[in-house]
Amino acid sequence: MIDLKRNCKKEPVKATGLRSRASSSYTPNQKTDFKISRGRFSNFLTCKRCFYLDRVKGLDAPGTPGWTLNETTDLLLKKEFDHCRENHKAHRLFAPNGLRHVVPFDHPEIDNWRDSLHHGLKLRHKNTSIILTGGIDDIWQDTNTQQLIIVDYKSQAKNGRVDKQEYLDDCYHDGYKVQMDFYAYLLSGMGFDVHPTSYFLVCNAKRDEDGFYQTMHFEEYLVPYKWNSNWIEKKVDEMVNLMNQHEIPEPNESCKNCAYSEQYVKEVHLSKREKALIIQGTLFS
Ligand code: SF4
Repeated sequence: MIDLKRNCKKEPVKATGLRSRASSSYTPNQKTDFKISRGRFSNFLTCKRCFYLDRVKGLDAPGTPGWTLNETTDLLLKKEFDHCRENHKAHRLFAPNGLRHVVPFDHPEIDNWRDSLHHGLKLRHKNTSIILTGGIDDIWQDTNTQQLIIVDYKSQAKNGRVDKQEYLDDCYHDGYKVQMDFYAYLLSGMGFDVHPTSYFLVCNAKRDEDGFYQTMHFEEYLVPYKWNSNWIEKKVDEMVNLMNQHEIPEPNESCKNCAYSEQYVKEVHLSKREKALIIQGTLFS
């Protein structure tokens, strides 16, 4: 992935490999509050070294381009559900999925909870300075039990129909389940009664149409997922302990980025040193 650093005028500037804002890094045993988002927690689970270098050492990792098409389906779904929320109407997907007793949850904080950049769900971790955050896509409510239902919108483009069990069993979707478990952990910790079933609203773009003709068609699926947040607290404890230590942890051996960096160092820096040794050798021969 080639990612050029640019200034506010979008001009390429020298990349330093470090973030410029010191406040975005955590100092071990810091007493002032420090936020850790759901995404960073997932990074911790994937690679402790990358998480540590990012959050504690302030390294500025290359980014990925925004998923603007996926974000657009999220944005449009949000508009649909907000319309139902404001007008106290059932959403068109509820009845066909046996959810006549469900409504979009109306709460004064809903917009903040959905704002992953500035707010999100928030929960202090025990008596530490760590505030866990997570921006949800939506929350619905079971009108029979009053429990809150966590919803995450997902967009994809795969051939054929989506099998709900295969969707959940796909190893590439493990992170989605972590996401739900984490949101359920936050929302429960904030004092809400959370329904044991959450939903992925999966929008699958149809790839077998005759042409584009300015329209992309999607099939929609509600994939139920029984969240489990029992494991989260222990992992957050581990994460906080790691943040308070001074040693850089081990990398993830399956990571292609680290393997690439190692090869890069061998090819570029070592070969320069070898060349220098050869030149040095000829001077003294
Ligand atoms: S293994 Fe990958 S994720 Fe971990 S530190 Fe290296 S580049 Fe980062």
